[in-house]
Amino acid sequence: MLSKDDQQALLAWYDEHQRDLPWRQSDDPWAILLSEILLQQTQVSRGLVYWQRMVETFPTIASMAQAPVDAVLKAWEGAGYYSRARRLHALSQQVMLPKAEGGFDGQLPSTYGDLLSLPGIGPYTAAAVASIAFGQSVACVDGNIRRVMARRTAQADPTSKQVQAWADAALHPARPGDWNQALMELGATVCTPKRWNCGGCPVRASCAGKENPGAFPTPKKQRVTSLNLVAVVEFALDGHPVLHQRPMTGIFAGLWGPVYHEDAPTGLEDLVNCGTVNHQLSHRKIEVRVHLKHHDLATHGTPRSGVAISSLDEKVLNLASEYATANPHIQKSEAKG
Ligand code: SF4
Repeated sequence: MLSKDDQQALLAWYDEHQRDLPWRQSDDPWAILLSEILLQQTQVSRGLVYWQRMVETFPTIASMAQAPVDAVLKAWEGAGYYSRARRLHALSQQVMLPKAEGGFDGQLPSTYGDLLSLPGIGPYTAAAVASIAFGQSVACVDGNIRRVMARRTAQADPTSKQVQAWADAALHPARPGDWNQALMELGATVCTPKRWNCGGCPVRASCAGKENPGAFPTPKKQRVTSLNLVAVVEFALDGHPVLHQRPMTGIFAGLWGPVYHEDAPTGLEDLVNCGTVNHQLSHRKIEVRVHLKHHDLATHGTPRSGVAISSLDEKVLNLASEYATANPHIQKSEAKG
């Protein structure tokens, strides 16, 4: 539990030491929502770049709702976890609907319950936006807060219910948004997973876990799966790659890229082996063997700048392009971006 003195100490520390992040200067709920969705699975340093791009491309909910989903995916390009971009687009369209049709007349709702009803919004994001953008007294729970709670109470494996109950009891009713951010900031910058700084912690005196922070919480083993793919890359006679839009479900859904096969396709022996690309997602290692088609080429390809491409596909196309450029005898066209 955090006493009133602890609360004051943590808020005073947050007021003085919080990182200077642009969404913290904004009181626009849409800009705050974009930051929360981006930062769910993207580091702050990278999230800054993508947040700026999203805010500039879609300054309002209406501007995103009017855009095709492909434009949202293009703006999201490189941020990963593209289902977030597709759900964000669905969210914007739902918010723009009239109330009679289940929407919110173009205004992002302010309550936890209404926010939770929107596509792509889970309990964390609903609580974060309700408290930070609308000043509602709702406690957030994310990985940082779970770790701070586990260490302060010296619990190795607190349940989600226990963490939520702790966060609810700790919430500062007058400054709920700042309070949630202060706890998360403590977890992100001081009470970090591997390099905690108890000496610089504003609530050290009352912490039960400070003698051995590494014991709380018990690290969870992550199961990493691996996936082996074969990519067939074709550069058309105009030099652009031949790209296909992936289905709206599954890996890299809705993005564009070369054809992938899980097993070696027939005719592989007629293609040129350019090498291998390795790519790491959070729980998955992907290895792609890249092959280049060099005969019966299409006349026109797809300029890369016009469609959304994943970082993996960028690597695959770059490897094939470099190979084609270094070996001009294998195909007539010169690969372009
Ligand atoms: S004293 Fe150490 S373990 Fe406790 S909350 Fe602060 S940084 Fe975390």
